[in-house]
Amino acid sequence: MKRRVGLICILLTVMLGLDTGAISWIQDIAEIIHLMDDEDTKENLRSQNVSQEQYEAFCEYEKDGNYSRYEYLCGYLFTGEESQKSLEQYLKQVKRYEKENFSCMVAYEKAIWSDLKYFPVPASRGDERTVSFENSWMSERTFGGKRGHEGTDLMASLNQRGHYPVISISDGVVEKIGWLSQGGYRIGVRAPNGAYFYYAHLYDYADGMEEGVEVKAGELLGFMGDSGYGEEGTVGKFDVHLHVGIYLNDENGEEFSINPYWIMKYLEDKRLTSQYE
Ligand SMILES: [Zn+2]
Repeated sequence: MKRRVGLICILLTVMLGLDTGAISWIQDIAEIIHLMDDEDTKENLRSQNVSQEQYEAFCEYEKDGNYSRYEYLCGYLFTGEESQKSLEQYLKQVKRYEKENFSCMVAYEKAIWSDLKYFPVPASRGDERTVSFENSWMSERTFGGKRGHEGTDLMASLNQRGHYPVISISDGVVEKIGWLSQGGYRIGVRAPNGAYFYYAHLYDYADGMEEGVEVKAGELLGFMGDSGYGEEGTVGKFDVHLHVGIYLNDENGEEFSINPYWIMKYLEDKRLTSQYE
């Protein structure tokens, strides 16, 4: 009798163990599906809050791991986990239960990160002209109606239009060029993996820039200025700076913006040097 009770106890323990295991497994799946459904997912994608060190860690994970750097990066943005092991646990599940949704997110990450080569403003050879920037993602702007700031402003230490060269962050094709009432003289370059890099408030353009022209990363696009906030030719409504925007198209072809701040931080030490005028 004693032995039977013992056996039943063991059996019950095993079953309970299995049950709690199964429950937490179901919870994990539900959490993964919920994560991919959530509005926060898109916000996490758009704010792209990842430090250079963290991004470089994902490049390392990729070398001996089963996943690409962009998959690790997505995993990090959606779960906040940093270690390779926890990320791989998540990735294994998400790729099993939310395959399509997840691969779409990974494609966005690849579009954002894989074509980045240079910081858009080269360092000045022989003098102290610099740029500074902060994370002003979605901070309030009022020209053209109340709206959130969808870019990063690289502010010139010397407030004079036409001095700082602006170069292309990536290879690509000039998709748009010309005046916009908000952006002033702007140029937009479509990179090979699909991201659209938008450079606004220019003073003027480099020779030969027009729609359809192919550019190489590091190629001169124009010069930094303070154009915009009015009819064509308006200048001086704000200090000289380069507004950088990054846009992607979703699966329905709708454009949405990404916060360029962390990408600019990542590119900060990938700066060319140039002889300024
Ligand atoms: Zn701006």
